[in-house]
Amino acid sequence: MPLEVHQFPCLSDNYGYLIHDPDAGVTATIDTPEVAPINAALEEKGWQLTHILNTHHHFDHAGGNLELKDRWNCTIIGSRDDAERIPGIDVKVGDGETFQFGNFDAQVFDVSGHTLGHIAFYFPEAGKLFCGDALFALGCGRLFEGSPAQMWTSLQKLMALPENTGVYCAHEYTQANAAFALSVEPQNDALQQRAKEIEALRAEGKPTVPSTIGLELETNPFLRPMSEDLQANLNMQGAELVDVFAETRRRKDSF
Ligand SMILES: [Zn+2]
Repeated sequence: MPLEVHQFPCLSDNYGYLIHDPDAGVTATIDTPEVAPINAALEEKGWQLTHILNTHHHFDHAGGNLELKDRWNCTIIGSRDDAERIPGIDVKVGDGETFQFGNFDAQVFDVSGHTLGHIAFYFPEAGKLFCGDALFALGCGRLFEGSPAQMWTSLQKLMALPENTGVYCAHEYTQANAAFALSVEPQNDALQQRAKEIEALRAEGKPTVPSTIGLELETNPFLRPMSEDLQANLNMQGAELVDVFAETRRRKDSF
């Protein structure tokens, strides 16, 4: 049976995700943005929480760890490199490692940049990526702790995944991200089309997440420093890709 994903809103613009392997009877929450909606979602689905998979330590990702662990006695899996900031961590994982979640492989990528020790969880058989605040639909995380070069290295790991991989990011930031993306690469037809679709979805109050790696490669300016149009718009023709990425990120910070 496939890996099931249940998506629901938390806080003002976070997404909660429960993942469930029906054969093995295990259920994880990806991060713990808000306890009440996570418990409500578990009740709605009739699932028992067995695991918490933490992408990074920020409060809207790990703030509910201890309360949920207290109630469910679940196992908390997080970054070895950020272990001291992940409340209640039981199992420490790092870049390139694989662990079992029920009958599914979960591959860990270090995607530091937004924070140091930020990780993403990739389920290759299910074709799903849970990337926290590293990669967003049409965006990427703000660089609070890492360097642009570090974030660019992180994003390239995700860019190498199959194009049909589902991208389950942690926030509904897509409409604002689209406005910025259009400001730096207005010539991108796929981006223009996507921005219209996003506007229509949000007008109906519907999520724009999950996305796919293929769609992000076509439209997300942070994955497109090789675009000649983007480079020209930044006056950076022929520049190193990491420098184009850094300038794109710098402009978004003040957009
Ligand atoms: Zn964060």
